[in-house]
Amino acid sequence: MLGEKALILLVDDEPANIQLLAGYIKDDYQIKVATSGEQCLKLCAATQQPDLILLDVDMPGMNGYQVCEQLKSSPSTAPIAIMFVTAMQTEEDEETALSLGAVDYLTKPVRPAILLARIKTHVKLKIQHDALVNMAMRDQLTNLYNRHYLLESANHRVAKAMRQKSPISLLILDIDHFKQINDTKGHGAGDAVLKSLAELLQQQCRLEDIVARFGGEEFVILFDECHLATAVKIAERIRARIEDSHPNGIFVTASIGVAELDNGNEGFSELVKRADDAMYEAKRSGRNKVLF
Ligand SMILES: [Mg+2]
Repeated sequence: MLGEKALILLVDDEPANIQLLAGYIKDDYQIKVATSGEQCLKLCAATQQPDLILLDVDMPGMNGYQVCEQLKSSPSTAPIAIMFVTAMQTEEDEETALSLGAVDYLTKPVRPAILLARIKTHVKLKIQHDALVNMAMRDQLTNLYNRHYLLESANHRVAKAMRQKSPISLLILDIDHFKQINDTKGHGAGDAVLKSLAELLQQQCRLEDIVARFGGEEFVILFDECHLATAVKIAERIRARIEDSHPNGIFVTASIGVAELDNGNEGFSELVKRADDAMYEAKRSGRNKVLF
């Protein structure tokens, strides 16, 4: 988002209204348009979500209120800011709109300067909100997910796997002799090793896998839809890549434990425990190896 223009979605069944609004804001923002509520929902499900929606109320099919209600009811679309822009002028209309979670309510005809000022405020708040959410779920040094985020989302993933009877595997990785790196090469070098390893892990995983920094030099990867045999294969590849990576010219190895969820018979904490036990056994029996 930084350095990029915020994305605003204009929704109105009258193309002339969209054109008018677009004319006011096109220099300062990226714009997408929809001429129905249904189309608006579709665009909000896309990878690049709008930061703000200017939403008409009176439309054939789904009206603006229904669109707003639906967007606010889903965690993935709830953060999108919604500003109603409508010809409906009564107090009740405005009250309804705001009670549904819209951040603002403008009546047509809009005054361009007011529209722009309000958009600016809401876009700024939205971007700050996104930044805070991102900070809360990521580890500052490596930009991987943090422990808190992993634990939070793991419970959802495990519940889903149970429902769909699909496999989940977990990998725990601990850098060997990390304290020695910090002690002999300094903390700057230690941090560089952590960062480079985080990048390597991210490259070896699919987008849907959760790669997290679990503790100091400990990392966890949660593989969705993945049996033990596949997870062990990936773990072995990761172990070999780390051994070859020489970040900052430092020879680094890691010990890795892998386990698959015993679906229906255990929760996430038991799964972590088994992967952790395997990792400690890998440490105890010589390090730089994968056990499961
Ligand atoms: Mg309309």
